[in-house]
Amino acid sequence: MKLLVILIFSGLITCCGGNSSHSLPSKLLLVSFDGFRADYLQNYEFPHLQNFIKEGVLVEHVKNVFITKTFPNHYSIVTGLYEESHGIVANSMYDVITKKHFSDFDDKDPFWWNEAVPIWVTNQLQENRSSAAAMWPGTDVPIHNTTPSYFMNYSSSVSFEERLNNITMWLMNSNPPVTFATLYWEEPDASGHKYGPEDKENMYRVLKEVDDLIGELVHKLKVLGLWENLNVIITSDHGMTQCSKDKLINLDLCIDRSSYTLVDLTPVAAVLPKINTTEVYNKLKVCNPHMNVYLKEDIPARFHYQHNDRIQPIILVADEGWTIVLNKSLPKLGDHGYDNSLSSMHPFLAAHGPAFHKGYKHSTINSVDIYPMMCHILGLKPHPNNGTFGHTKCLLVDQWCINLPEAIGIVIGALLVLTTLTCLIIIMQNRLSVPRPFSRLQLQEDDDDPLIE
Ligand SMILES: [Zn+2]
Repeated sequence: MKLLVILIFSGLITCCGGNSSHSLPSKLLLVSFDGFRADYLQNYEFPHLQNFIKEGVLVEHVKNVFITKTFPNHYSIVTGLYEESHGIVANSMYDVITKKHFSDFDDKDPFWWNEAVPIWVTNQLQENRSSAAAMWPGTDVPIHNTTPSYFMNYSSSVSFEERLNNITMWLMNSNPPVTFATLYWEEPDASGHKYGPEDKENMYRVLKEVDDLIGELVHKLKVLGLWENLNVIITSDHGMTQCSKDKLINLDLCIDRSSYTLVDLTPVAAVLPKINTTEVYNKLKVCNPHMNVYLKEDIPARFHYQHNDRIQPIILVADEGWTIVLNKSLPKLGDHGYDNSLSSMHPFLAAHGPAFHKGYKHSTINSVDIYPMMCHILGLKPHPNNGTFGHTKCLLVDQWCINLPEAIGIVIGALLVLTTLTCLIIIMQNRLSVPRPFSRLQLQEDDDDPLIE
């Protein structure tokens, strides 16, 4: 009995002590290839990425957050929050109260980022842990006075190899150890804008290069002995859709520029009226049938894009593939930012490592679900967020999950088997109890059973 208690107790310690101070904490590398549309995986060849998936998990579609732009979506992945809650509501922003501006080139003021706490900050508040980053948006900003212990200032001219070298060096040689690291790469977004996702020839070339980088990443992790114990997530911020010179919405045809300030332009325009808001709204409302015009208070709830001072009084949302311009020709052949219910706006997620199943495919999660999953892997207490941990349980080896369609199938199957068995039993019983003349005679002949007597 004593031995049994000891065995159960030691088993409990082994099973639940994953994040105890005695065992090494899990390590996680989060990688983003900007603008990697989910269905590129079906339409192009990715030998290296497919090998990665074969040994790990794949989520075919990640429903990202509105607006489907780079800065907002990268911040949602690492905070688990919708844009209205984390405050990075666009790539171009204006704050009416402080009169501050934010753009791709002017993003270093912590003011913009401090409405949320990204996972690399939370990770560093744990004893004996540090974080590292190679250019993930926001990682070169002192958010809540904290940058990752190791980071690079953003520069698009730094090669993937250099970013990867830094990350692997930090993962291997740091004290306290780096347990959370991020790596960001600008492609296939840049080429998606330039050529448009329907340019098969150019996209084939660019996506092959992206796949080669994934091959390089895995090779380097293997050579350095990091591969087996490191959890790696490869994902993206958004997809990409084809634009056309025939699908232009020219605001100058509808309203005088002097009556409003344009904070952001396309495909979601942020309009700050200089005159009466209703007047500006009424003019824009009838501007083009391929653009939805919303007063801030009427923005559909499904966008979760309303409750923040940085969201302007009027927003214009272009239909897929349409471009909002100010009397100009088409600026880009591909774009994103559109409605987040469009599958062309969705990225994918693949993951590999000791925390993840091998060879498992899952249809969809939300991008805000990634944060609670990462916190679980790292043993961190998540900040309040919009994600649902349960959505990612099927990806993780230490979780028991119910796949709803499978569960329904099992229940229906079990009911069918039970019904069939019950029917069979009833039929058998009926057959046995039917009063047939010969058997009745037989029974009567044997009616001298001593037990009955
Ligand atoms: Zn982009």
